[in-house]
Amino acid sequence: MKIPNSELVGRIIREKLKETGVVRSQQELGSIVQKELEKVDSSFHITPERARRIAIEVPDVKVTIETRKSESDKPEKCPACNGDLKTLYAKNLDEEKIQVGFMCEGCGYHGDVEEFMPMRYIFMITRD
Ligand SMILES: [Zn+2]
Repeated sequence: MKIPNSELVGRIIREKLKETGVVRSQQELGSIVQKELEKVDSSFHITPERARRIAIEVPDVKVTIETRKSESDKPEKCPACNGDLKTLYAKNLDEEKIQVGFMCEGCGYHGDVEEFMPMRYIFMITRD
């Protein structure tokens, strides 16, 4: 397994977004990029998370987050130890505070909120 450099990945993301217009989830972006990478070298591997992080850095690519459900969809208790969960926040590109994950104060378990509620990243090209 080989890790592609971010410049190559960024170039692929930009090219594919120019073709497809909009990509509506991190998973989809990941699989598009993975497919293209395999054309270059079949041992390249990328996770959807890394593809998303690189996409954010690419000029002319806009990444937004779409949340469709309320915060109440996060698990009530830690799935590992049943302890209390602390919500983690971040700001999106519009400077709005959004819930991105949670952490257990008891055992340190943390999760990405995307696993538990439909929160989607949207990727698009702003200029071609
Ligand atoms: Zn815990």
